[in-house]
Amino acid sequence: MCTSLFDDPAAAAETISDHASPSQPADAALLGDLAIANRILFRQGVVDGFGHVSARHDKHPDRFLLARNMAPALVTPSDIVTFDFDGRALDANGRAVYLERFIHAEIYRARPDVMAVVHSHSVAVVPFSILKGVPFRAVCHMGGFIGICAPIFEIRDIAGESSDLLIRNSALGAGVAKSLGAGNVVLMRGHGSTVVGDRLKQAVFRAVYTENNARLQAEAMRLGPIEPLTEGEAETTARVIDTQVDRAWDLWKMQAEGQI
Ligand code: MN
Repeated sequence: MCTSLFDDPAAAAETISDHASPSQPADAALLGDLAIANRILFRQGVVDGFGHVSARHDKHPDRFLLARNMAPALVTPSDIVTFDFDGRALDANGRAVYLERFIHAEIYRARPDVMAVVHSHSVAVVPFSILKGVPFRAVCHMGGFIGICAPIFEIRDIAGESSDLLIRNSALGAGVAKSLGAGNVVLMRGHGSTVVGDRLKQAVFRAVYTENNARLQAEAMRLGPIEPLTEGEAETTARVIDTQVDRAWDLWKMQAEGQI
């Protein structure tokens, strides 16, 4: 049975030397929202001790912001590090960084429209990464952004038969980005999933509802044949529901801050 703890903690951390100093600091509000995003994703069950969320740098579009190697629920703005698209840290100052930062780097490189990325091992999604002949697809209006078939990244195509399944270099990250294509969600066989958005709040929303859609689809398939959304319904619902992202974010933020 799949669990969310695929990564060996020791193997998933890496200490690297800084490549250069960022010329302009990121917006403080963006860093604050990124810290909150980490906590929301934990409270919503998308990440546990593992998984990460990043945002494209607001001043340097060829860089991105991602926490140092740590549990997402504990991230504060001061824990956030700037990276370039080769996965090089610019201001880590000796702090350990996530091994799988190449997922984020290569998606930002390939997709100028993407402003935020969430990578997780959320448990309801993982079964769809290993099922044969059962596409993961939008089955309710809140999951319309998933579309009619989420692609699956097959790491053996790049890393061979005995890899640790981790996205530990640029070539593997580029493979994930290629599988994602122009979509919003990519599954990673036996590992997890990665979700993108045109803004941070949208990426967080999509990560939460990717997990919810997986639960719904699996439950429905236990009961009988399913009738998923059509391609047109997926597109329409995605567009309409996207106007409501802030409503969920505001609720989840208060919950993550312990206010409700
Ligand atoms: Mn991972």
